[in-house]
Amino acid sequence: QAKGAGKNSFAFYSPADDDNSIARLELESALRCALEHGELELHYQPKLDLRDGRIRGMEALLRWPSPGLGMVSPQQFIPVAEETGLIVPLGKWALRQACLQNMAWQAQGLAGLTVAVNLSPRQFSDADLLGDIVSILHETGMDGRQLELEITESAIMQDAEAGRRLLRSLKSIGVRIAIDDFGTGYSSLSTLKQFPIDTLKIDRSFIADLASDPEDRGLTEAILQMARTLKLHVVAEGVENAVQQTFLRERGCDEVQGFLFSKPLAADAFAAFVQRRRQAIAA
Ligand code: C2E
Ligand code: MG
Ligand code: MG
Ligand code: MG
Repeated sequence: QAKGAGKNSFAFYSPADDDNSIARLELESALRCALEHGELELHYQPKLDLRDGRIRGMEALLRWPSPGLGMVSPQQFIPVAEETGLIVPLGKWALRQACLQNMAWQAQGLAGLTVAVNLSPRQFSDADLLGDIVSILHETGMDGRQLELEITESAIMQDAEAGRRLLRSLKSIGVRIAIDDFGTGYSSLSTLKQFPIDTLKIDRSFIADLASDPEDRGLTEAILQMARTLKLHVVAEGVENAVQQTFLRERGCDEVQGFLFSKPLAADAFAAFVQRRRQAIAA
């Protein structure tokens, strides 16, 4: 991009642009193969209840350990998947996989966990989404009430009327709705109120400097206060230290998720983490 060159100037040829688009094309075709060959995985990050320390559920996060490219971060491949539409089959795979895994844990005695799956804007506007979710729940036998979908404000606001209809249908089959990265979007209180939302996930950027930044403390308090008024459940993401945890607990935040408790874990490691934690609480 010819940044700073004035808006009437042409973007001059830059080898870096070419490299970039080639890299994206390569990433796209590699991702397509990865999906076909089963290279993708889900990792699971626990969400803990701040009152009793119990694990209420987890967020499923895509991981791509590519034999050729090494570990590719979702920050790299999700935007490419979103632009190319690959996110639709990819997201459907993730939804099914998360439900299958939760049912497998349930069979092992890890019952009552809620699994949260992220939905991108493109997935949210896909006409088949509701039907896909209904059939995945049916096929895996999972209760809709154990599924939570994490959606950003902007994804819902692409088409507010269609968004509201879709959310209502999802609610009618028991599925819970969380607003992801809350605080970074533009929705007002009154718009938020018009959508059947269960949970707000406070964006990591507000949590990061809670200990040192009075503005972030004020904003986080305001979000918690507002959530209480609207009777919404609140999860703080990116909790990395005890100062943040204490601040959030004292102000009535319901759940926390972050490296202080655990990084996203492969399925077996997640099950072991939950078991260890349950034993520690019972002891
Ligand atoms: P997100 O949904 O906001 O997920 C939270 C991100 O914060 C994850 O990054 C997680 O690993 C990271 N995180 C959690 N706790 C901490 C912490 O204490 N400190 C720090 N520094 N980071 C923390 P990840 O796994 O790299 O995912 C990035 C984004 O990619 C996600 O953001 C989500 O928007 C997207 N994504 C991941 N999996 C999926 C998926 O299955 N479908 C879709 N549509 N998007 C996905
Ligand atoms: Mg999320
Ligand atoms: Mg988030
Ligand atoms: Mg995010």
